Amino acid sequence: MGTTGDCRALTDSRNRVIEYLRLSVTDRCNLHCAYCMPGKCDYERQNELLSWGEMEYICRMLSEEGLKKIKITGGEPLLREGVSEFIGVLKKIPRISSVTLTTNGQLLSDYLPKLKEAGVDGVNVSVDSLKPEVYKTITGSEGLNRVLEAVYACSDAGIRTKINCVTMEGVNRSEAADFALIAKDRSIDVRFIEMMPMGAGCLFKPVTGGQILEDLRKRFDLRPTGETRGNGPAVYYSAEGFQGRIGFINAVSCGFCESCNRMRITAGGKLQLCLAHSCGIDIKELLRSGLSREEIVLKIREAVFKKPAGHDFSAAKHESSDSMMWRIGG
Ligand code: SAM
Ligand code: SF4
Repeated sequence: MGTTGDCRALTDSRNRVIEYLRLSVTDRCNLHCAYCMPGKCDYERQNELLSWGEMEYICRMLSEEGLKKIKITGGEPLLREGVSEFIGVLKKIPRISSVTLTTNGQLLSDYLPKLKEAGVDGVNVSVDSLKPEVYKTITGSEGLNRVLEAVYACSDAGIRTKINCVTMEGVNRSEAADFALIAKDRSIDVRFIEMMPMGAGCLFKPVTGGQILEDLRKRFDLRPTGETRGNGPAVYYSAEGFQGRIGFINAVSCGFCESCNRMRITAGGKLQLCLAHSCGIDIKELLRSGLSREEIVLKIREAVFKKPAGHDFSAAKHESSDSMMWRIGG
């Protein structure tokens, strides 16, 4: 068993240290992104969601086992009442060095003051197109301008702000340079994410990060910065005069499973150790069945130890083909 500073580390059988949690606080969403939640969904019932108290208990427990960073996700996390206050609670947990949020940004401007007050360490906003009509085709909704205004206001408020763009051939690849201009003009990182063949994502023709980089290099003199910013897997580039960075999350073409430091808790209270494998344990069940803290920690440690080696997205029919990103939290 390894240690990280003054507490034990959660490690798996490949000696990866698991110190980052993606915590999904709801499976509901106010958008219907074509690659994620295209149709009507079978949401968890309210009492099947972990309560704020249960989630705080889990995070406190994990912080004593080496957890350092938490990302609040969903569905759309800002749809669940009390999320900014919950971020404030997490920020006070000893040893948790970073609490960030990923959102589609539709409600972000309403929540900005509260998020700032809570001390959120960063906000990632999903924006897959800068063209209102394409945005509407992808998400099923209007509101692109509202989202972009919130992104800029978030950055202006001094919160570390990133744009996440999932790239799709024939849908938004041609907009890569326009996205990059945001990073040129503002202190906002723009990250291009490869489409993972999960759920409705399987229906889209992906574009690799390498292809986007090639497209961008026709216009910008992008150089790798060699930095790690945030929780890990993005590779960053910059060019003369850029205020923000251009990041690539090449989960499919390059993969970064060997250095994966993540675990996930779904809205329904399941600890999942890999996006691409459904194995894991039902923490909600363990909590509600009255197990002691020590017994739960033991089960978590056993589950973490068995973290799968990585994804197998190249196989025609892999385990995650039917997985729903909106359930797991991305
Ligand atoms: N609703 C929030 C949002 O959109 O940011 C949080 C949840 S969403 C599931 C988290 C991230 O997963 C988003 O950036 C979304 O674009 C990404 N995502 C969903 N399906 C994906 C897929 N098949 N491949 C890659 N990224 C995906
Ligand atoms: Fe909702 Fe985020 Fe999925 Fe889009 S990507 S449907 S905003 S959960």
